[in-house]
Amino acid sequence: MRKWLGNEDLEELPHYDTINDFLSRMDPAELEKIRTYMIKELLKKRCFDSYRINGKYWGIAIDGTGIFTFDKKHCEHCLKREYKYTDKETGEEKTKIIYMHHVLEAKLIVGNMVLSVASEFIENESEDVEKLDCELNAFYRLATRLKDSFKRLPICIIADSLYACKMYLNNARLINGTTYSVLRKIVSKASPMSFKR
Ligand SMILES: [Zn+2]
Repeated sequence: MRKWLGNEDLEELPHYDTINDFLSRMDPAELEKIRTYMIKELLKKRCFDSYRINGKYWGIAIDGTGIFTFDKKHCEHCLKREYKYTDKETGEEKTKIIYMHHVLEAKLIVGNMVLSVASEFIENESEDVEKLDCELNAFYRLATRLKDSFKRLPICIIADSLYACKMYLNNARLINGTTYSVLRKIVSKASPMSFKR
């Protein structure tokens, strides 16, 4: 680590609990600015240019991932999932409810490495909104933020069919919003087949 940081005087590193404690006191928006700055610097230095798709587009993978699960509802944004299982002792069919928090991540793909470029929490917006819709709504927010942070970056979104099909169905809604040009530009590069269909 000493060599890697180029600091021969380095004697010790903080424990990860100390780092977590420090980070938890910081404003998430400020941390995001640092992340965006670091990614932009890396792109400016052209170290990843050979990983561009067709020599032009930066591949950004979008996917939701679970970060916490709880046995009890922990806040009004918790996503809820029910699953059935057989009680090993009684043989009874039972239903268990778990509450969880998921985050939608946008990761820049550079060879066999991915770098997180934007994150958006997938939140339970109300009882009658399905989880997939919550994920899609999180994507709208994420896409807008991606566009704000990386205004002129040519992007090729890599995502599963949920996004392409749903976006097509929601096309009318997107046209009405100011984010249409943002999303249209990203989507049209994402999945021409699904977009056409
Ligand atoms: Zn919660």
